[in-house]
Amino acid sequence: MDKYRVLKKYFGYDTFREGQERIIDALLEGKDAFGIMPTGAGKSLCYQTPALLLDGITLVVSPLISLMKDQVETLNEAGVHAAYFNSSLTAGQYKKALQFAREGRYQMIYVAPERLLLQEFIEFAQHVKISMVTVDEAHCVSQWGQDFRPSYLKIVDFIRLLPYRPRIGAFTATATKEVREDILAALDLQDPVEVVTGFDRKNLFYQVRSPKDKFAEVMEYISAHPGESGIIYCLTRKTVEEVCEKLIARGIAAARYHAGLSDAERARSQEAFLYDTVSVMVATNAFGMGIDKSNVRFVIHYNMPKDIESYYQEAGRAGRDGEEANCILLYAPKDVKLNQFLIEHEVQNEVLAKEEMELVRERDRERLKQMTFYCTTNGCLRDFILRYFGEYTTNYCGKCSNCLSEFEEIDVTDTAQAIVECVKSSGQRFGMTVITDTLRGSQSAKLKQNKMAQNMCFGRLKEVPVYRIRQVMQFLNRCGHIFVTDEQYPIVKLTEKSDEIFDNAPVRMKAAKEQKKKPSVSGQKKGRSDRFDTDYSLFEELRKLRMKIAKEERVPPYIVFSDKSLKDMSAIKPATKKEFLEVSGVGDHKCQKYGERFLAAIAKYKS
Ligand code: ADP
Ligand code: ZN
Repeated sequence: MDKYRVLKKYFGYDTFREGQERIIDALLEGKDAFGIMPTGAGKSLCYQTPALLLDGITLVVSPLISLMKDQVETLNEAGVHAAYFNSSLTAGQYKKALQFAREGRYQMIYVAPERLLLQEFIEFAQHVKISMVTVDEAHCVSQWGQDFRPSYLKIVDFIRLLPYRPRIGAFTATATKEVREDILAALDLQDPVEVVTGFDRKNLFYQVRSPKDKFAEVMEYISAHPGESGIIYCLTRKTVEEVCEKLIARGIAAARYHAGLSDAERARSQEAFLYDTVSVMVATNAFGMGIDKSNVRFVIHYNMPKDIESYYQEAGRAGRDGEEANCILLYAPKDVKLNQFLIEHEVQNEVLAKEEMELVRERDRERLKQMTFYCTTNGCLRDFILRYFGEYTTNYCGKCSNCLSEFEEIDVTDTAQAIVECVKSSGQRFGMTVITDTLRGSQSAKLKQNKMAQNMCFGRLKEVPVYRIRQVMQFLNRCGHIFVTDEQYPIVKLTEKSDEIFDNAPVRMKAAKEQKKKPSVSGQKKGRSDRFDTDYSLFEELRKLRMKIAKEERVPPYIVFSDKSLKDMSAIKPATKKEFLEVSGVGDHKCQKYGERFLAAIAKYKS
C-alpha cells in the first residue's frame, strides 16, 4: 500500500492538501518533521498516513482527553485500530489496553503527556517497536504560549529512555516566532523538515459589528440560521450565564460552559453540543481547546477577546470541514476596558518572577492594542490578521465585512484638529471619554469636577456624533497623530506627529457610508458544495439518518460523516457503492459500514 491508497481507503480523499505530502514523505523517510498549519488544514492526516504505513506503533502525545477521544473515534470509524491512554480509563481498562498494545493490536496510541514517564508505560514502550512519536498541539511546550503544559517538557526525557530514537513529528497552529523556537528546542527536533502553510482560512467570513444591542444582534443572526451549530464566546462567566439564559428563554437550544461550573455540567454541555442536541454553545475561552467538531457554522464573539492570537484560534473553530462559516465579532468600546482590567488583575503563571510578570503584562497590553485596532480598522480584516502573523497579502479579500462595506473618504480635518487641541489644552491628562465629552459639551459631573467646562474646546464639536469623534480618535491613534496609552485607564497623549494635523493638507479618513446595508451573510444558498448544487431537502434527510446512526454508535454525528460528505452526497446522489466511494470523506470502511443505508435513503428520496 502507498500513501495515496491510504488516503483513499481510510479517509476517503483523492488528493493531499498543501503541505501534507512533504511532511508525510519526510516522516516515511525517517526524518523529523515540523508542521505549522492553521486549524482545519489537516494536520492529523500528516502523521496518521505514515503511521498506517510504518511498521510498529506510533505514539501521539496529545494534551486533552476530549481531543484524544475524538481522534480515536474518528480513526476507529475509518477502520483503523487506535486507542488512547489517559486518566479517563479505569485501572482495569488501562491494564487491558496496555495488554492489547503489547500484542500489537494498535497502530496508533494517543497518550497524555503525564503518562509517558510512568514506570508501567516506559516498560511497555521499551519492549515494543515505537516507530514514530508525534506531538500534537506542540505549542504546549512553550512558556510563552497560552496553553503551556509543564508535562510537555518531559516528552524529550521519555524519548531518551527508548532503546533507539524514533522519528518525531511536531504539529501546531501557533505561528509566532518565540513559540516555534521553543518547540524546536524543547522537543530536540533534529534537522526537521519544516512545513509552514498559509494561515488564511478561505472559507471563513470575518465580520466586525458594533451593534447597540448585542443580544438583539445575536438573536437576529440565530433566527436567520436556524439549527446551525455555533459558539458564542463571552469574556466573563457572568455574561455567559446571561446570554445563555436569554437564549433559552427565547426557545433556542443553547448550553453554557465556563470554568465555574462543575465538571459534570461542563461535560454534559460539551457532549450536548458535540452530539448536536443543542445547537448553540455559550462559553468563555475555557471552551474549545480540543473541540474538533467540524460542523461549527458560526463563532460569534460577544465581547472583543484579549488578543488576535486568541481571536484567530477561537474564531477558527468555525468551518473546520472547509464549508462556509461566519466569524462575527461584536465590538463595544467597553470591551477594551474589561480586557485592560483582566490584564492588570490576572493571576499570572506562578513560575514567573516579578519582572517577568511585568514583561508579560506589557506584551499583553500591546496585544490588546492590536486587537482593538482590528475592531476599529476600515481595512480588510483578513489582511489585518494575516499581517499580524507575518504573512503579506493583498489588502482586499472581498470576503470580510470591511471589504464588503461601502466606504467613502470623508474630510475630518476639523474634528481631528479639535481633538488635538483639546488634548493639548487639557494637559494630556485625560482618556478618550473625557475628551469626547468635552468636545461635545457634555454636562457630566466628571467634566465639572475636572473643570473641563472652562476648556477652550468645550462644546466645539456639539454637532458631531460621539461615535464619529471616537472613530477619528482611533484613526489618529492608528496613524500616530495621537497616542493612547496602554494603562488600565488609558490616556490620550500627543506625539511629534500631532501638529501635522494643522498643516494645510486636509485630514481624510475612510468611513463606512451612512445607512449602509448589512453585509450579506453567507446564508442558505451561497457557496455550499463546491462540486454541484446541493439538494437541501435531501441533505436534511441524510442529516437525520446520520443522527440515527450516531446514536446507535454513540459517537458524535460529525464522526459518522462530516457536513461536507453529506452535502457531497446530496449533490452527487450516488446510486451504487462505486459512486458512493466518489463522495469526499467516504473510504472503504465507511462505505462498507454505512453505504447501504445511505444509498437506500438516497434512492428513496429520488423515487
Ligand atoms: P487540523 O488538525 O489541522 O486542525 P484536521 O486534521 O482536523 O485539521 O483536518 C480538518 C478536516 O480536513 C478533517 O475533516 C479532515 O478529514 C479534512 N482533511 C484533511 N486532509 C484532507 C485532504 N487531503 N482532503 C480532504 N479533506 C481533508
Ligand atoms: Zn477583506
